[in-house]
Amino acid sequence: MIFLDRLFGTNEHIIIKKEILQGLFRYATRTLSALLIVEALFLFLFLPEVGNILYLWFAATSVIILSRLYDAYRFRHDPQRYSLSVWHKKFLIKAWLTAFFFTLMMLYTIPQLNTYDQLFLFTILLGVTGGAVNSLSSDHRIALGYLAILLVPLSVDMIFFVTGVNSIIMGLLLLLYFYSLVSVILQAAEEKKILESKKQEIIRVESELYEKKEMLELFFDQAPIGIFLYDTKYVITDTNRAFLELFGRQREEMIGFRLENLPDQSPIVPLRKALTEGTQTYIGPYRSVKGELLWVEAKTSPIYNSTHEIIGGIVLIENKTKEHNALEELQYSALHDSLTSLSNRRGFRKYMEKMISQEKHSSYYSALFYLDLNQFKQVNDSLGHAMGDKVLAAIAKRLTHQIGDAENITRLGGDEFIIVVPFIDTDLKRTKESIEAHIQSIQQAFHDPFMIEGVRLHMKSSIGIVIIEPGFDNIEEIVRYADISMYQAKRHGQDFISYYNMKLDEERRKVFDLQHQLVAALGNNELELYFQPIVQIKDNTMIAAEALIRWEHPQNGLMGAESFIPIAVESGIIVDIGWWVIEQVCRQIAAWKEKGLWTLSYLSININAKQLLKSDFAEVFIGKLEQYGVESSDIKIEITETSLIDNFNMTQEVILTLQRYGIGCAIDDFGTGYSSLSYLKKLSFSLLKIDKTFMDGLEKNRENRKLVHTMIDIGKQFDYAIVVEGIENTDQKEIIQKIDDSLCYQGYLFSKPVAETEFEESFLR
Ligand code: C2E
Ligand code: MG
Ligand code: MG
Repeated sequence: MIFLDRLFGTNEHIIIKKEILQGLFRYATRTLSALLIVEALFLFLFLPEVGNILYLWFAATSVIILSRLYDAYRFRHDPQRYSLSVWHKKFLIKAWLTAFFFTLMMLYTIPQLNTYDQLFLFTILLGVTGGAVNSLSSDHRIALGYLAILLVPLSVDMIFFVTGVNSIIMGLLLLLYFYSLVSVILQAAEEKKILESKKQEIIRVESELYEKKEMLELFFDQAPIGIFLYDTKYVITDTNRAFLELFGRQREEMIGFRLENLPDQSPIVPLRKALTEGTQTYIGPYRSVKGELLWVEAKTSPIYNSTHEIIGGIVLIENKTKEHNALEELQYSALHDSLTSLSNRRGFRKYMEKMISQEKHSSYYSALFYLDLNQFKQVNDSLGHAMGDKVLAAIAKRLTHQIGDAENITRLGGDEFIIVVPFIDTDLKRTKESIEAHIQSIQQAFHDPFMIEGVRLHMKSSIGIVIIEPGFDNIEEIVRYADISMYQAKRHGQDFISYYNMKLDEERRKVFDLQHQLVAALGNNELELYFQPIVQIKDNTMIAAEALIRWEHPQNGLMGAESFIPIAVESGIIVDIGWWVIEQVCRQIAAWKEKGLWTLSYLSININAKQLLKSDFAEVFIGKLEQYGVESSDIKIEITETSLIDNFNMTQEVILTLQRYGIGCAIDDFGTGYSSLSYLKKLSFSLLKIDKTFMDGLEKNRENRKLVHTMIDIGKQFDYAIVVEGIENTDQKEIIQKIDDSLCYQGYLFSKPVAETEFEESFLR
């Protein structure tokens, strides 16, 4: 058995395919029945020559053939009875045994037969072998063994042992026949093998295809992205579950749906293009039937058949609404101010970049309005930041309403806003006209008071305007120009409006430089005090003087107060300058007192209201007086009317404290602030200084004369001492003297402000 296993590979390790066995047993009934007949024929024909021994042969062979028939029957009805390899072995042994018995019979019979009978026997043998080749073809090894057992011994016997030339020829012919059968069987086996492997391949491919199909179906159905298929007529042929869920549709509605009937046609172009130009992508909004606005990413690819013709398309749709919205929100907040919802600095930049990149920018003028609220700081300081925020929000709302487009309004931060009006006109004159209209419109936003939490607030804004030339693309410069013009608007602008021009730029630069130099000037002893006498108009006796600051500038020479005090106020350095003046004046008075030259009833100094707002001003000031042994009545503090009005409530307390200490305060430049005296009287000032501008052309200007007259009258009614400033000639002096002879005056007519030594020489000694 092991030998057989080795020889024919029929052991358990080699899988004997069921098919082989089925092939072997399929023809068994027919061929074995034929074999029984052949056997009987042998018995009948050769019994006379061979004798009774043939009965024994017949019996043995019949038993084997019948047993094989029984096997075939059992295999058909009860194949599980044995393992496949056992069935195979059974078949093989019995088939070969059959061949063996036939061979035995023939070897025994042949020598006893005449040539004619031998030929007859061989004819039968050919029939048997032919049938065997056919019936055993399923297993070529069995067939080969079968034929070898049947033909080889007989041919050898014929060639070598049976006498006669005929036998040799017949033996050789038998061998030749055997050889041709073997080659036919081997060839058939080879072809079968090839066929078998092809079959295996097909089975493998089939199963792979099946798996893939299963996978695809599973993926199609379970995929989290929406998928649908459509044909070349743009009719939907299939959809998956995610698709139906995404659009809230039923499968039945969608199958057969024509894409041209989609409620939102935005993705239709890529769907069509995909069938001619290959894969297309659509990223964008899509409004579903339910009206829901989605953001989708749809990738469409054509589908080909086996002959590479396009038979439709497949669309994969991803719902990116959430991501898109989150991104939009993020972008929005990155570019917008949370308080007012206007653009922020970054949003402004983006807007400007977009604007200057547009074609129109090359030929159109645009305008930029830079707004800065006046006195917004006071709102914050006195009413709190929460109120300040509400004011800003309300202003933003009004501006948006006036301008109509929130996109080009920016809150730069704090109380600064920018409005851009793009592409106004190609003509500068018409552009300017349009800008004027826009100014009106912006100012309109501030016209009515703001009612916030029951508080009525009048807000105003300074506006710097930059006309953006066509093609000008330096955003930083535009913003800088805007800043400069705004600054200008704040300081000198009419109605707080100022257009940018180059001169402003230079001025701004100079101011900037001056501010820096001023800080250094304090340390470098470049500041100096001049003194101007205050005299009685009736007899020209000096009773007091005013200390006025000068700056010995290293390059510019001696500079008057007018040319740097406003800058000092703006930068805040005025506070340091103020203390320097106080210190200086105290020292001076002390020095004059020591020399016995102190005959003045007071020396007045100018203090900016900003300084009074600093805590402890009165206390520190008194401390200084004590330090130098100066009486409180020796000094008067002059505060300009305009700065008083700006800070009225807050200065009130300090001024009262100063009065309590016996320090007199004067209202300086009276008449320039248009305030009523009764209002100022609340501050209980003792001295009124009528501004020098009223002296201009006093001789001819009746209006001014009347004004001065009225001011003096009212001033006296409120018990103010009065000093008239700016008397330069005797005409002016006489006019004033006629109005009131008991006044004092200060003016070039008597003396210009002079340096300390000269003042001492000329007026004190
Ligand atoms: P002010 O307090 O009204 O001072 C009087 C100004 O009028 C002085 O100008 C003085 O030179 C000028 N003046 C006097 N008489 C005449 C005249 O007959 N004709 C003309 N045209 N002008 C006359 P100044 O010194 O240039 O000071 C200008 C302003 O600067 C002052 O006006 C005052 O408001 C401010 N100032 C001066 N010194 C100081 C200071 O130390 N601290 C502060 N905070 N402000 C000061
Ligand atoms: Mg003064
Ligand atoms: Mg004055």
